[in-house]
Amino acid sequence: MIAVPSPLRLSLDRDALVANWRWLAGQGGAAACGAALKADGYGLGARAVMRHLAAAGCRDFFVATWAEAAALTPLPAGVSLSVLHGVGDSDMIAARLLPARPVLNSIEQVRRWREAGEGRPCDVMVDTGINRLGLRVDEVLGGALDGLAVETLLSHLASADEDSDQNARQLAAFRALRDQVPARRYSLANSAGVCLGADYGFDLTRPGIALYGGTPRSEAAGHIRQVVFPAARVLQVRTVPAGETVGYGATWTAPRDSRIAVVNMGYADGYLRCHAGNGGATWQGRALPLVGRVSMDLIAFDASDAAGIGEGNWLDLDYDLPDVSARSGLSQYELLTGLGSRFERVWR
Ligand SMILES: *Cc1c(COP(=O)(O)O)cnc(C)c1O
Repeated sequence: MIAVPSPLRLSLDRDALVANWRWLAGQGGAAACGAALKADGYGLGARAVMRHLAAAGCRDFFVATWAEAAALTPLPAGVSLSVLHGVGDSDMIAARLLPARPVLNSIEQVRRWREAGEGRPCDVMVDTGINRLGLRVDEVLGGALDGLAVETLLSHLASADEDSDQNARQLAAFRALRDQVPARRYSLANSAGVCLGADYGFDLTRPGIALYGGTPRSEAAGHIRQVVFPAARVLQVRTVPAGETVGYGATWTAPRDSRIAVVNMGYADGYLRCHAGNGGATWQGRALPLVGRVSMDLIAFDASDAAGIGEGNWLDLDYDLPDVSARSGLSQYELLTGLGSRFERVWR
């Protein structure tokens, strides 16, 4: 094998990841702080995230599917892994073989686990208002879980990133469940839920986006550090005379004789077309605005004010999540999970 250098890089800050986890752990009161690792650790690489957080003391991890669970084995010593989407018919072999437990989401999944789970532990999701996955409260209070050894009883907040009455309603519903449904632990809060206060912490919190640099609510601003720093190399710098245009559709016209840095990145890498008109990068402290449309694997920046820039230089993309989310209209989640496989992921 020859080592082929990539022109695209995600620099990933381990200290910032761990600091974010510690801050979130501190907000949850007495609750343990877990980590959501689905979608390959929100695009950072689930294995590395798990390794770094486990080394920092995190013990509870969550993925969406059994394929994601399989990709994480062997697990670091002493950690627990839960599969949020539970067990469908075709998952039972994986569920019996892998060192992970399902989060059962329906009467059907509970029946399946009772019949074929061989008495292994499970988690259970109860719906308190999001109506996505989970048993209904009346099903659970009606005895659907009787005799089942539930490790963690979960529910999920629908509107935790907003100041909505639904948060207090879901909190009250989950407290009532805790008082009536036996389980070893209870867990309600995602990142935004953690920011709602220690009342929402119960025994275990499950942040995702805030670990990775997202700010889910204003309470987290100033505490959450950026973790993901995309960078891309300049393929060439060209001179574009005043009045000429750049890119598909000729949407940008040079207002003066301009130096344009063309870079190895585009929408196929998750850098979507909605960054046009608001995206940017920096080189040696100088700001370079994105010009023209985003192509599949090329974008262009106005580098007229960046004297000395040339082929092979690395540009740092603007990727502070709350800021770029506000500018582009993409959610902080989309900004991370879309980052593609052409980025080399480098932890520092
Ligand atoms: C994704 C997810 C989380 C983490 O959510 P964030 O908003 O990223 O903190 C927690 N719990 C469940 C059930 C999830 O699906």
